[in-house]
Amino acid sequence: MIPFNRPYTTGREFDYIRQAISSGHISGDGAFSRKCQSLLEEITGCSRALLTTSCTDALEMTALLLNIRPGDEVIVPSFTFVSGANAYALRGAKIVFADIRRDTLNLDETRLEALITPRTRAIVAVHYAGVACAMESMLAIAAGHSVAVVEDNAHGLLGRYRGRPLGTFGALATLSFHETKNVSCGEGGALLINDPAFVERAEILREKGTDRSRFFRGLVDKYTWVDLGSSFLPSDLLAAFLYAQLEARDSIQAARRRVWTVYRDRLCDWAASHGVSLPYVPDDCEQPYHMFYLILPTAESRDALIAHLKTRGVMAVFHYVPLHLSAMGLQAGGYPGQCPVTEDVSGRLLRLPFFNGLDESDQARVVEAVLEFSPEPR
Ligand SMILES: *Cc1c(COP(=O)(O)O)cnc(C)c1O
Repeated sequence: MIPFNRPYTTGREFDYIRQAISSGHISGDGAFSRKCQSLLEEITGCSRALLTTSCTDALEMTALLLNIRPGDEVIVPSFTFVSGANAYALRGAKIVFADIRRDTLNLDETRLEALITPRTRAIVAVHYAGVACAMESMLAIAAGHSVAVVEDNAHGLLGRYRGRPLGTFGALATLSFHETKNVSCGEGGALLINDPAFVERAEILREKGTDRSRFFRGLVDKYTWVDLGSSFLPSDLLAAFLYAQLEARDSIQAARRRVWTVYRDRLCDWAASHGVSLPYVPDDCEQPYHMFYLILPTAESRDALIAHLKTRGVMAVFHYVPLHLSAMGLQAGGYPGQCPVTEDVSGRLLRLPFFNGLDESDQARVVEAVLEFSPEPR
């Protein structure tokens, strides 16, 4: 079976983990955490990068930093991972579900204004597949209403919009280093801070609500409980693993570009003649080759293609189930028909195997298996 994802190692991970162990510091904020953070700051140009144990944790930190509380509203695309909504629901916010654009599958900025009320505090911008949201108009709308933009950039490290790195548009942004992401340490993430006003408090929240970071810099003579917080920082063992991957980002991206381009080149004629859509990347977006998806003409043909590929030893998967129709989403006020594009596309989308080590012969098998399939027209 060709899996949907297979974890990848560069070869240096064990070396760095061994170094972390011999350094005598394997808890959070050791030498490798600092190296990863500096590298992320250098790559993106954000004011401050803080490693977290997941993108989910980084999103929870954004909710704390923005002082989200009961009665507040946060606008979240329905077509995203649960953590983008859950992080704010945990603070008591009402989640307002936004629909997506048909082309990029990103939050539809043309319908954003209509969702904003005097209680709106934040908009979560998810760059689906690492292809940027229309940041220019989204930021203008947010600024017009004094609403914060948080970029959930779990897919988009190394992606750009109009030349500028993703993760540097919102006041805050998050990254994921989960096993399925381009650069990984199994479970991990980061908070990227672009508004320096958040830096000091973010360090406190991440250190269980204490001023421990200031203590280590010699700014206070003991550390104590000063704010809300939790334990959001990963072990330096994970940071050591992650550093090996971040260092290898150019070769990782080259491998992924090859995989993406082969899929596009070999499937575009088949797609055009069968009413199947391939990923759309606007000219002002540089994508980080996070995934390759197909949008089939119908939900039935999508399910049939997944089943067909399984018989050929290929694991293809669907993606987000609309949040507004989930059990929690319905409780939050979601209803059928609220986000029609999300409802339509999520039933028809399929992701092909995509990972750094997908070799040419395995990928050729995937392509051949797809080409054998003729979807029923819509
Ligand atoms: C993977 C992902 C997350 C969650 O990442 P974790 O690191 O597993 O918490 C959040 N948002 C999006 C868009 C993701 O793809």
